[in-house]
Amino acid sequence: MARRYWPLKRGHIVTSGFGSRWGGMHWGVDFGWDGGSGGLPIYAVQGGTVVNVGPASGFGQWVVIDHPTEDGSGTTVYGHIIPEVRAGQRVEAGQRIGRVNPDSRTNGGVAPHLHLEWHRAVWSPPGPNRLDPLPLLAGALFPDEVPPTPAPTAQREGLLRLRAGRVRATHPAEGKPMTLYGIDISNHQKAFDFAAAKREGFVFATHKVTEGDGYRDPYWPRARDQMREHFPGLFGGYHFARNNIDPDRQADALLAHLGDPSIPVQLDYEDTKTRGSIDNMKALIRAIEKRGMRVFANYLPRWYWTGHMGAPRLDGTPPIWNSHYVNGTGYASVLYPGDGHAGWAEFHTGAPPVVLLQFSEHGQVAGQSIDVNAFRGTEHELRALFGSAQPKGEPMADIVEEGAGQLHPQPGRLRPINRQQNVNPSTRTPDEPWPYDIWCDLWNESVWDGYDIRPEYADVPDEVGRSLVALLQTVAARQVRIESKLDQLLNRKEGA
Ligand SMILES: [Zn+2]
Repeated sequence: MARRYWPLKRGHIVTSGFGSRWGGMHWGVDFGWDGGSGGLPIYAVQGGTVVNVGPASGFGQWVVIDHPTEDGSGTTVYGHIIPEVRAGQRVEAGQRIGRVNPDSRTNGGVAPHLHLEWHRAVWSPPGPNRLDPLPLLAGALFPDEVPPTPAPTAQREGLLRLRAGRVRATHPAEGKPMTLYGIDISNHQKAFDFAAAKREGFVFATHKVTEGDGYRDPYWPRARDQMREHFPGLFGGYHFARNNIDPDRQADALLAHLGDPSIPVQLDYEDTKTRGSIDNMKALIRAIEKRGMRVFANYLPRWYWTGHMGAPRLDGTPPIWNSHYVNGTGYASVLYPGDGHAGWAEFHTGAPPVVLLQFSEHGQVAGQSIDVNAFRGTEHELRALFGSAQPKGEPMADIVEEGAGQLHPQPGRLRPINRQQNVNPSTRTPDEPWPYDIWCDLWNESVWDGYDIRPEYADVPDEVGRSLVALLQTVAARQVRIESKLDQLLNRKEGA
């Protein structure tokens, strides 16, 4: 029989068994630790494929693993945890997959513990296909008895080395790439319960602010305060564009109602009443940026870009938030069609990357049926997108340079920022040569400091008059994507 492992290390206790409890039925086993369980590592009981990861009502977040026959068969569910794996990933028996979520505000409202379920074949609703895990775990090995793994191959070592500086230096477990879920809300949801959405495992949120030059979402001020409390650094406001209204007037209305120009703005460009155009869209982005706000993402559904704009090139525009709906309704992590879904595909070669994907408008969140969205990558990368990255002063090391070498117009010229050399471009006299390579420094500022571009750089145009900032953000977002790909590759190597 395939090897099985306990989901916690030796020393764990069973706090509640399978069977009737409190007049109901407990369809799993609860595991914990004397003296507290928050943060305890959780391990896969058998080998298999991660089929669901992320928000699940009642659990905060969960991980669901499907086990092929040769791994022991069945499906196991791990609830109330912080996942450290991503959907589609192969995991081995005894491999760490997450940790007990210590925070009752985000773990489904329970005292920290692991809830383990064992389903006979595929995921099944409560009933006879849910098995008591304890007899199945009789004689299981303890995770700390995992035999030593084979020596890494040269290729894997190379990858590890490539990433070592960044990953080792700046990321503990929470730096692992995964699929992160978020919500976007408008007045339709009225007084939406952001705290509940946070508890259910969603990590980012946006809310409507304005539409055209007249409509101000009455729920925005409340939503802004709620998101600031429950999604600090990972929230934004969106403006629904009306293509027949003067961009400056739209941007004025947005600024007035946003209340705080440092809140990242999402443009929502999908007005079906009036035909869109690349010039119109860019004019609106420029008008918003001119007022000191930052467009962190451009909600531009592919169907709108092709059907209503004529599929123009999108060079120099912000990272894309695409929409591509799956059928059905349910938990976001169940509905999510996967990191390889067509919704993630590039709009055209060289287009800004699709960084966010709205995959359903019927996700079950906080008791409502709403829009749900995914981000592929680490929380650090997501923070960079929202402009809230807080680097701790450690450079991201060689991987950034490696990637930059492929993207930078003058490969090899990238160097760490020497702040002494930075000179405010606005005080430079016309015949004075640039005292530094502006491309390098802008690159460094935007990538190394997480898009935190200083205002004095913000209006420097390149030779065709585009905003260098917009260009840099595009390049930086692509860098983030390259790193995610490397992470995926590395995970695959580790799972092999
Ligand atoms: Zn339980």
